[in-house]
Amino acid sequence: MLPDVRHESRKTLLALFENWGEPLYRVDQLLQWLWPRRAASWEEMTNLPKTLRARLAETYSIGSLELARKQGSIDTTQKFLWRLHDGAFVESVLIPANPALYGDRADRHTLCVSTQVGCAYGCRFCASGLDGWKRNLAPWEIAGQILGIERWNLSQPTVVPTPQTAGESITGEVPAEATPAPAASIPPMPGQPAKPSPSQRLINNLVIMGMGEPLANYDNLLAALRSLNAPWGAHIGARKITISTSGVVPRIRQLAMEPEQFQLAISLHGATDVVRNRIMPINRKYPLAELTAACDEYVKRKERMITLEYILIDGVNDARDQVLPLSQLARRLNAKVNLIPYNKVEGLEWKRPTEERCRAFASALQATEVVTTLRIEKGHDIDAACGQLRLRTERELAAQ
Ligand code: SAH
Ligand code: SF4
Repeated sequence: MLPDVRHESRKTLLALFENWGEPLYRVDQLLQWLWPRRAASWEEMTNLPKTLRARLAETYSIGSLELARKQGSIDTTQKFLWRLHDGAFVESVLIPANPALYGDRADRHTLCVSTQVGCAYGCRFCASGLDGWKRNLAPWEIAGQILGIERWNLSQPTVVPTPQTAGESITGEVPAEATPAPAASIPPMPGQPAKPSPSQRLINNLVIMGMGEPLANYDNLLAALRSLNAPWGAHIGARKITISTSGVVPRIRQLAMEPEQFQLAISLHGATDVVRNRIMPINRKYPLAELTAACDEYVKRKERMITLEYILIDGVNDARDQVLPLSQLARRLNAKVNLIPYNKVEGLEWKRPTEERCRAFASALQATEVVTTLRIEKGHDIDAACGQLRLRTERELAAQ
């Protein structure tokens, strides 16, 4: 199989085109097709000479993900299930920052992206790891989730307008940062009428919180994020990309050394080793003392606040005795805490605490002067917790 062209950086393509004796402006034309125009075939690239297109087609493949299933929920959180070339499934969740009023569509979106098929880390509460790890996603399969949804959006009857300066994370706490619009206008999908304002884009923020442990697929993740971040690529600001990890300590340290200012979120879910050991096997390898030391380093090097994700699970980590150690940890790291009521996973015994109990935990933490958000999951009704739609689809197919 040929390598995918979206794995190449501008620098590599410049060297290749020089070698081929092609004028170098052709590289930028090609990159325009690959990223802002989200092309899915060589045929679409009408301003490139046919001979060059043929040569590219002999050298590279140009992949696009096949949409296998899509679920939308009342508040317009939508879940996309992709079928990969080997028949495996991964999912992405599109979350509107502001559920639009009176049935209008929301205009700013965060996309939650997968990085692996399955997960090897086996956190006890999570659907992604239930059937183990199958494989890493290639860089273009990670980036392709964004491009695929942007293409899907353009094929819809109304294009969702997107203010280019808007920025918001799921919790709405990431400071806004200007995101330049791609320069080119985007051609309509084959068979689709031209759309108004096609250079606007749907997705402003990325959270790497779908299926898989991103830092266990480090090189592919970084390659994808660099193309998504590059001015010649999707041009999404590094500060608008949040990488979530269950705590792969050496990779957190490695990420701290990278030049980009990606946001880091730690899936903590327990503020003591006793609680964390019970629900997250990774804690036996990298216990809290090591994890916090790596986070310290990240915060120092990047001079950025990190987020501690804390799922509230009934009777496991939602008692008052967790508030103090959680608060101490957050204050030591100068981190904010995202509390997320657990999403029930079919076949697992864990339960979501009552809303009252969640609010009480949040208030107690807030009272210790820790920046706290209680995130009521928007996609609860469409299996938005990571891995659930894929697991259900695979099990349905196996039963046929
Ligand atoms: N592997 C990475 C990123 C993917 S998981 C990580 O663990 O951080 C993304 C987030 O969803 C994690 O914080 C994870 O703990 C959380 N999660 C998993 N299952 C969940 C569930 N059933 N309900 C709520 N959050 C869940
Ligand atoms: Fe893997 Fe993250 Fe799920 Fe743990 S929470 S099993 S690391 S995807």
